[in-house]
Amino acid sequence: MNAASPALAKTRVTALPGDGIGPEVFDATRRIFEAANAPVEWDIAEAGAAAFRKGIASGAPRETLDSIARNRIALKGPLETPVGHGNKSANVTLRKHFELYANIRPVRELPGVKTPFTGRGIDMVIVRENVEDVYAGIEHMQTPDVAQCLKLMTRPGCERIIRAAFGLAQAEDRRKLTCATKANIMKLTEGMMKRVFEAVGPDYPDIAQDHIIIDNCAHQLVIAPEQFDVIVTSNMNGDIISDLAAGLVGGLGIAPSSNVGDHAAIFEAVHGSAPTIAGKGLANPTALLSAAIMMLRHIGAFETAETIEQALFITLAEGENLTGDLSPRGHGVGTDKFVGQVIENLGRTSNLPSRAYRPLTLKAWPDRTAHTEPASRELLGVDIFLESSLSAAELGASLTAIAEGSALRLDSISNRGVQVWPATGGSTFLVDHFDCRFMLKEPAAGNGPQGISDLVKAIGQKHSWMHVEKLQRFDGKDAFERPQGES
Ligand code: NAP
Repeated sequence: MNAASPALAKTRVTALPGDGIGPEVFDATRRIFEAANAPVEWDIAEAGAAAFRKGIASGAPRETLDSIARNRIALKGPLETPVGHGNKSANVTLRKHFELYANIRPVRELPGVKTPFTGRGIDMVIVRENVEDVYAGIEHMQTPDVAQCLKLMTRPGCERIIRAAFGLAQAEDRRKLTCATKANIMKLTEGMMKRVFEAVGPDYPDIAQDHIIIDNCAHQLVIAPEQFDVIVTSNMNGDIISDLAAGLVGGLGIAPSSNVGDHAAIFEAVHGSAPTIAGKGLANPTALLSAAIMMLRHIGAFETAETIEQALFITLAEGENLTGDLSPRGHGVGTDKFVGQVIENLGRTSNLPSRAYRPLTLKAWPDRTAHTEPASRELLGVDIFLESSLSAAELGASLTAIAEGSALRLDSISNRGVQVWPATGGSTFLVDHFDCRFMLKEPAAGNGPQGISDLVKAIGQKHSWMHVEKLQRFDGKDAFERPQGES
């Protein structure tokens, strides 16, 4: 059995055993840590179902948030998200509260875990932006029939996650970073991630870099997964491809992840609380244990991390005492026996070497509102979103008349992103949600904002508008997209 490096002081970690099988897999991890003399002390805290039952709508009590803020590191079991009670997800609360912007999901073939992809040499990390994109939760019903979700992506948000991915590639001695986006369609949001990737890439000359469209990335992950080393991507893309990638090597039940930010890091299993097997002593603790191994590396306990990882690898490879999810039907053992086997294997080395790791350092960001002032800023017009049951031609005639004599002229009307006025000859199905684009007759005229307010007021007397968006040009570049069909 191994003893951890005696030089390492113990690190206090907030432990959230969580719901369902959470306490069982946490207890398993704690026993293995004790046996390996891991340099960790636990502050046990509560989140999830127990907090919801006490009426804490966020699912994360104040004392838990304080404990994580103090320790800056947490190991979290799965937390149930009550369905249909209007409660938030405690997982998302924690992620957002601590601005844990980098979700790091290693995907590696494990010995003894047979899948259709066994033997392909899959060993990659998916780095998913964790706090922006459509997950900001800014959603509105704009008309009774039309829902909108804002996809917010920011330049600092893109830079943070891309630099974190490059930093991770360096820390793990990886050779290539692939940026996966939908920049071909969402040119401003997803395109920003691609542009930032290309701008910061030269700072990392030792790492090969390429860009791939996200749908092809999903395809390539299935066709030739071994080609990937590190993938960086936006929140929703990452949510989908990280689950896909986990499926290649044995599924969510064995997948670990970390959520890292400037102020804290939370390590967790990817699986949920598995209520069907909770309390039965059947849960596989591999995912939480693997997350805890990531945590040990995060605090610099590389030697202990490797000892435990090797004991896990050899237990899986020998395959004698595996839990039911990894065994032929009827041959699985309980959590307790699996843990005993891992403990017995501490100090042994498997055929699968652990990777060489160095500490991951994130770029420090100033603690103030991020803002870039462009050298020039022009106002060109405005998009006014209207709810209307008129035809495009009727609406066009009405708005042209209203704009007459104002500082702006009606330029075009689009419906769900397709130009419908002036008519293009297309056969667009109309819903009661029109984007009416007005351009200033004299771009950047001093009275632009006043002219826009006057126009919105005049339109409001005849139509129902729900949203107004300025059309600007920063540093000589249009800061808006054109609808399909607009020449
Ligand atoms: P789940 O808890 O991951 O469970 C799905 C199935 O996967 C289980 O029923 C079980 O299959 C198997 N499984 C998962 N983890 C396992 C383990 N460690 N050992 C053995 N088998 C395992 O997904 P869910 O049923 O969709 O979600 C249940 C609850 O968890 C929900 O409230 C959800 O919101 C929450 N959740 C939390 C997190 C998180 O905290 N990060 C993540 C996902 C879901 P069998 O039934 O075949 O044994």
